[in-house]
Amino acid sequence: MLAASASPPTVTAPNTAQEVLHGVFGYPAFRGPQADIVAHVLQGGDALVLMPTGGGKSLCYQVPAIVRHRQGRGVAVVVSPLIALMHDQVGALHEAGVEAAFLNSSLSGEEAAAVEKQLLRGELVLLYVAPERLTTPRFLALLDSLHERQLLSLFAIDEAHCVSQWGHDFRPDYRALSVLHERYAGVPRLALTATADDLTRADMVAHLQLEGAGQFVSSFDRPNIRYTIVEKKDPTQQLLRFIQREHAGDAGVVYCQSRKRVEEVAELLAREGVNALPYHAGLDARLRQTHQDRFLREEGVVMVATIAFGMGIDKPDVRFVAHLDMPKNIEGYYQETGRAGRDGEPANAWMTYGLQDVVNQRRMIDESPAGEEFKRVLRGKLDALLGLAEATDCRRVHLLDYFGEASQPCGNCDNCLQPPDTLDATEAARKLLSCIYRVQQASGMAFGAGHLIDILRGKTTDKVTQYGHERLSTFGIGAAFSDTQWRSLLRQLIAREAVAVSADGYTTLSLTDQARAILKGDVPVRLRVSSAPAPAERSRSRDRAGRATAAAQAHSELSPPQQAALTALKAWRSGVAKAHNLPAFVIFPDSTLLALAQRHPQTLADLQGIPGVGQKKREAYGPQVLEVLAALDAD
Ligand code: ADP
Ligand code: ZN
Repeated sequence: MLAASASPPTVTAPNTAQEVLHGVFGYPAFRGPQADIVAHVLQGGDALVLMPTGGGKSLCYQVPAIVRHRQGRGVAVVVSPLIALMHDQVGALHEAGVEAAFLNSSLSGEEAAAVEKQLLRGELVLLYVAPERLTTPRFLALLDSLHERQLLSLFAIDEAHCVSQWGHDFRPDYRALSVLHERYAGVPRLALTATADDLTRADMVAHLQLEGAGQFVSSFDRPNIRYTIVEKKDPTQQLLRFIQREHAGDAGVVYCQSRKRVEEVAELLAREGVNALPYHAGLDARLRQTHQDRFLREEGVVMVATIAFGMGIDKPDVRFVAHLDMPKNIEGYYQETGRAGRDGEPANAWMTYGLQDVVNQRRMIDESPAGEEFKRVLRGKLDALLGLAEATDCRRVHLLDYFGEASQPCGNCDNCLQPPDTLDATEAARKLLSCIYRVQQASGMAFGAGHLIDILRGKTTDKVTQYGHERLSTFGIGAAFSDTQWRSLLRQLIAREAVAVSADGYTTLSLTDQARAILKGDVPVRLRVSSAPAPAERSRSRDRAGRATAAAQAHSELSPPQQAALTALKAWRSGVAKAHNLPAFVIFPDSTLLALAQRHPQTLADLQGIPGVGQKKREAYGPQVLEVLAALDAD
């Protein structure tokens, strides 16, 4: 039958970066700037790597780590804030035949001691460690001992934006990482992140002392992600329709602001037949872990979560990320949506957004105990996100512009696919602003959006008569606009900071200095005509067709025997993944199984060149894979 012995014995471990890429990871070529980064680090340089999620940051330090270890240069220390992920990352390296381990609070004292021994003996190629552990005197003493013997190959600081308080997940422990530069001069350091605006980038350079580092900035574009932002009406129903129409059976993440909402939405989706699970910090830790494991290991789970979920979730086949509430800023939005489509296949980023989101976010900033300067930065960041949500032109252009990247309309966002009709609302904006002004002048107090819109539309509600607001000159001057249109206009004016929202008990609106230019008619205002079905929803049928072809294309091109082979391989993979307690994609990604089904290898030699099959996996799984395929032939 199949000769496992056909595998050629390894004579010497090949050790150039290219050889490691082929031999260990089974990939034919480096992607984008990976080759330059690897070469730079191998020459002893420090590097700041900004690459979008899914860009392939891990290889940038894993390949040099392996090359250097083979040269007798010791261990690479990887700082990662994601304790939950270390297990899978180390598991994936073991699958590829690379000696790796992690040190974090999930290990018992004994287990940790065993890892320390391995470390000191110089056996490890990579060690993952949490920042708070790294900076303990005990761990630094270990590093000192390695350093003296020149056994520290490099430091990789993952999620490096955590060092900045301007980033969206500041970790004070990251600040202490400046010790690496001071104490272990000469050991190359890579700082990696998928998200950094200018402020955060400058902070990373300063705090991590990377002034002399090579900067490798990739495009932040994620062309396979389609961005859609719809007006919030009945968000849960909107979400349900979105999932049913476009993502039946797909894995996805739904973000909500509060734990309570998470519970409600997960329940509703589950009732409607979606395989949905809740995830938030209030759940029992074990249950949370179970849900996360199911999301990673099962197919087609929808995780409904607060932002406590997902940092570093590297499941490659998440097909959509939905936001039922607006995040705090564009960095957060981009990172959360970036969890969709890491495998490069089409994916959707979908958000509902309404006036209340604006009010809530503003309120959170106002009520936070932070200093004024800090609040100013937060407000600026929120405004940029509001600008994105209100945009009537390409979303991607706005997103990339925020990260300092110029681009052209993308053709793959709601506004590009279905350009919204807009109308000149300069006059209406003036009416709205003067209404706010008159009401406040007449009554000596500020009112909320609903009341102001009632006045504009000429509605004699109890509240209107109670305050005599039907006698105002602005009463009824805006009957031509619908309630929705006024709200949309109001959001825009808030986004432009012409209207301030105060939230002391009641949400009330007042004018700011910026209102003056609009009142004078100096600044044109355009309004999305959004009364009809949201444009983004109209384009759905087209979306669906597009996505269906893209996702199913590869599969539909399979002949029936190839299809059968793919099914059998998936079943086999799922068994192996369970036995190894690892997600299926760590064993082989879908693309590898697809290639196997198509090429139908008969011998171990045939496995050469199948992407994702490195030497260790060929040895470990090659015979089984061939057997699975041969069994089909026998049938
Ligand atoms: P990031 O950390 O930047 O989000 P990862 O390092 O997790 O990205 O890589 C994303 C995916 O791309 C992984 O499945 C990885 O194996 C794959 N990948 C990375 N580099 C290459 C490459 N040169 N060729 C093929 N696949 C790659
Ligand atoms: Zn676009």
